[in-house]
Parts: sequence; structure tokens; C-alpha cells
Amino acid sequence: MKTVIVVGAGIWGASLALRLAETGWRVTLVEQHLPGHVRQASAGETRLLRCSHGIDDWYARMAWKARDAWRRLGERAGEELYHEAGLMWFAGTPDGWESASARVLKNLDIPCEVLDPADGARFFPEFRGDDLSFLLWEPNSGVIRARRATQVTARLAAAAGVRLVRARAVPVTGEAAPYECAVDLGGEVLRADRVVWACGAWLPELFDTPLTVTKQDTVHFAVPAPWTTPGVPAWVDYDASAYGHGDVDGVGMKATSDAQGVPYEPEHGERIVDAASVERSRGYLRRRFPSLAGAPVLFSQVCQYALTPDTEWIVAETSPGVWLLGGDSGHGFKHAPVLAEYVAGVLDGGYEPEPRFGLHERVPARGLRTRGDIR
Ligand SMILES: Cc1cc2nc3c(=O)[nH]c(=O)nc-3n(C[C@H](O)[C@H](O)[C@H](O)COP(=O)(O)OP(=O)(O)OC[C@H]3O[C@@H](n4cnc5c(N)ncnc54)[C@H](O)[C@@H]3O)c2cc1C
Repeated sequence: MKTVIVVGAGIWGASLALRLAETGWRVTLVEQHLPGHVRQASAGETRLLRCSHGIDDWYARMAWKARDAWRRLGERAGEELYHEAGLMWFAGTPDGWESASARVLKNLDIPCEVLDPADGARFFPEFRGDDLSFLLWEPNSGVIRARRATQVTARLAAAAGVRLVRARAVPVTGEAAPYECAVDLGGEVLRADRVVWACGAWLPELFDTPLTVTKQDTVHFAVPAPWTTPGVPAWVDYDASAYGHGDVDGVGMKATSDAQGVPYEPEHGERIVDAASVERSRGYLRRRFPSLAGAPVLFSQVCQYALTPDTEWIVAETSPGVWLLGGDSGHGFKHAPVLAEYVAGVLDGGYEPEPRFGLHERVPARGLRTRGDIR
């Protein structure tokens, strides 16, 4: 039986462990805390699933496939992990990210609709879109219950035979080390046919990678009844670097800036949301949904992005059998079950990963989430 060690039980590592266990691998999953612990990027209460990725059709196809995967996983777990609330893009210009996205989605037969800004009033209890060119509606996109989905995936992985080990792993050092498929758990060395380091924002501590880790504050507001899902869709404003969704499960309406935050250390960094982040979120509500400008903050969370300069991921072999899986760049949750299938195919020797996921020098490029700057 082929053996593999996956380090990191965030959604990427846990999904990969599950996939590999179900396709004939003996899997050890090493996690320094518990799956779903609040420091990991995967432990956000919610994450959006959207298919639009500008001109890029690879990620659009992945996201569309992932929608089915999340629905199936939810059925298997006996709970709704993915809430198909629909998702609205607010397009500030006629020929930007959203119009490119609409073309790609139409080519791929992924349902979407271009709407007039005035149509926003049909979807949101209150909507101000006089600064917008158009709206792009994705009826089959929505909100993933992220932390819960991570815990469920890890539980399903264990049920599929994955051995979960609680320890901090580091690469093995010494003369043979670069050629060893092994991890050091503080004295005990584990060996396998393959090792995958799926360590999220902790990856740069362990390997030389083109990653910047940033602090990201998320803010949820207490809102009145008409703003709860299923009635209210998720939304993204690419040019304003803002996104959110209606109140899901009583954690409030998310309205958050996607602007790249300050450098951050994921293990010891204080998880206190800045007052400026709350004000930025409020500023967006004031502009788009004015009656919510005075809504109190109900819940807030600090998380971190592990960003590559071009926001493309890292799926790269550093020495025979040793793989890095990271650089999710703040848009990886939705794809996890499908990415796991893709990476499992790579580990099985079926194909090489896309060249764009390599460890080459990355050229900064237009973000695959939003513009990512403060406006
Ligand atoms: C604020 C915010 C909003 C986001 N919004 C979206 C969204 O709307 N849609 C979307 O698709 N994506 C979104 N993302 C991105 C998404 O959350 C990430 O892509 C995803 O969670 C990455 O998962 P991961 O498994 O790579 O990393 P993580 O979840 O961080 O997991 C890494 C794990 O590795 C463990 N680990 C690290 N080093 C070691 C070690 N040496 N030994 C043992 N264990 C180790 C850590 O403890 C951790 O549990 C968002 C991210 C943030 C921060």
C-alpha cells in the first residue's frame, strides 16, 4: 500500500487526506493543534463560493465542480455545509473583472445573469447601486460553513482510516535529508512514500517560499430580520475590495474588507480586530446599504492570508516525493475538495501540476479575489 504523510489539517490538508485514504493510500495526517482550531485560515465561520475568476477559466471550472463536491459532502455528513444563497457581483466599470467573468461563465455554461443596478432592490432589502455599471448574478454560488466543514472533513478522514497525529512537524535535517520523504515530530521521525506540507500561513517558517502572510480582520454586524439568509445573497465588490453575505446561523451579516492587511505571524499574533477595519466595513455598508451603517458589530475574527505575488497557488515538488501545497492567497477554501482530487492525481503520477503553481519567481498580477487594495 502506498503511504503518505500530510502535514496540516486545515481544509486543504484534511480534504487531501480524505481523498487519498479513499483512493488506496495509507495516510497519516499531522496537525499541531486540532482540526478547525481558530488560528487556521480554514476556521473562519464562513467562506464564499463563487465561480467568477475574471478571465481565468481554470479556477472557474474548479469552483463549479466544487459546488457539487460540497453538496455531496454535506449529504454524507447529514448536515448542510454549503448554503446556496446566490452571489451578486457589484461591477463598477462596464469592462472590468465582472464582464470578463461573465464571458467565461457563459462559455462554460455556468449559470449567471447580467443585471441592471436597479435590479439589486429585488435581492437586497435595501440597495444603493447608483455608482455601478451592472450586476453579475451567480444563482448557484453561496456560503460555506467553513469551520464546521473543516471539522467534518477531518472526521470523515479519520473514519476513512486516516491516522491523525497531534504534533508539530519539521523537515528532517542531516546529510540525507533533502532526499528523504520524512517528517520530524520532535525526535520521532515518520517516513512515507510521499510527504505533503499543507501548512497554510506556517509554510514560510519551514520552507523558502514566495509567501507573504497578512492579518485579515473580518467583521459581522447585527442586522434586522430581512437581512438573514436564505433571503439575502452573498456579494462581492471587486474594485472596492469588499465582500459579505446575509446573516447565516445568527453570526451576523458579514461585511468585510478584502484589502491586504499588515504582515502577521499566525501562531503568536494577537487576534484582535483593529478599529480601522470596523470603520472600513461600516463605510462600505453606508455606501451600499445605508440603513445598516449604524448596525452594531456582533462578531469579529482575525484570520490570515498566505499570499503569493500573483495569487496563484503553490503545488510544487521540492525533492523527490516531497510536496508543498499552499499559497492559497485567500481564495482556496471553496476549491478544497476538488483541489484534493487534483493533487491526489499528481501524487498518483497521473499528471504534472500546472506550471503556474511552481516555485518560480512570481510576477505580481491582478488579484484572483478582488483588487485587494484599500479604496
Ligand atoms: C479572512 C479570510 C477570508 C477568506 N475568504 C475566503 C472565501 O470567501 N472563499 C474562499 O474560497 N477562501 C477564502 N479564504 C481562504 C481560505 O480560508 C483558505 O484558502 C483555506 O482555509 C486555506 O486552508 P489551508 O488548509 O491551506 O490552511 P489552514 O487552514 O491555515 O491550515 C494549515 C494547518 O497547518 C497546520 N500546521 C502548520 N504548520 C504545521 C506543522 N509544522 N506541523 C503540524 N501542523 C502544522 C496549522 O496548525 C493549520 O491547522 C479566506 C481566508 C481568510 C483569512
